[in-house]
Amino acid sequence: MPANPISPTIPLDAEGKQHGFLRLPHSRNDSAWGSVMIPITVLRNGDGPTVLFTGANHGDEYEGPIALQALAHELRPEEITGRVILVPYMNLPAFRAGTRVSPIDGVNLNRAFPGAPDGSVTRKIAHYFNHVLVPMADLVLDYHSGGKTLDFLPFACAHYLDDPHQQAACVAAVEAFNAPYTLMLREIDAVGMYDTAVEAQGKVFVTTELGGGGTATARSARIARRGARNLLIHAGILAGEPARGPSVRLDMPGDDCFHFADCDGLVEPLADLGDSLAAGAPLARIWPADRTGVPARECRANRDGILAARHFPGLVQTGDCLAVIATVAEPA
Ligand code: CA
Repeated sequence: MPANPISPTIPLDAEGKQHGFLRLPHSRNDSAWGSVMIPITVLRNGDGPTVLFTGANHGDEYEGPIALQALAHELRPEEITGRVILVPYMNLPAFRAGTRVSPIDGVNLNRAFPGAPDGSVTRKIAHYFNHVLVPMADLVLDYHSGGKTLDFLPFACAHYLDDPHQQAACVAAVEAFNAPYTLMLREIDAVGMYDTAVEAQGKVFVTTELGGGGTATARSARIARRGARNLLIHAGILAGEPARGPSVRLDMPGDDCFHFADCDGLVEPLADLGDSLAAGAPLARIWPADRTGVPARECRANRDGILAARHFPGLVQTGDCLAVIATVAEPA
């Protein structure tokens, strides 16, 4: 297999604080010998654990980029023990375009793992993370939100894993992040995900869904910033006490948590995020987008729970994820 063409412009193991780029050669019409320059900051102070924090795996999600830009600016190497690797804009081309997937190759970075060193731009990025950065890390945090098409209750989440020790370590890290909601998740489409690739390397992995709609809010940005510091403390890299607030434990126990639109149209929401719903309760009406005089389709909850995610734009298409209902877990 050829070597990955990405090269960091800074050393990844030097003491102190370095700001630079992951340089990916990208020959194209407007720049024959051009590059994609993905910003990276590395802080190191002596020996200790390594964490890898990433944002903008999807380019239209902003809490991670905000938290990691701030951390790259504010964190001082003398405060830490170990190493902190920060990549606020993991899929830089998608981030710059404000789109979920890369405008260069149309590839969704979070479905491109383990990647390929001779693949398209996004597959090269995936391969570099999988083969170079993730192996360096003890703990990996990948920020997500709903992007332009979904909106979420702010949660951090761990996955159900085969290894109970690894799962327990992930759950402890997710609880340390301390988002207002903490979730155990079974992915509906796990093949090719960064999550799956990181977990397969035995790492402690935390992911989030902190909001959505293609923007951040003051609240979601605060949650993202606080969570990053809490995780650094949890990892033993930063001294101090983590900020603690209440966190509601959620579960998504089955496929019936997910509700998909069965027609196109105009969405009339009948429940908002955080609302409690009984099975059969109305979630939304979908009105025809092209005529009057036709009744709306009513979409109902498959199960009891609270509305944890919803379709964001005012128009929906058949097959879109319209709503996700999570169950509130009993306190441990
Ligand atoms: Ca996402």
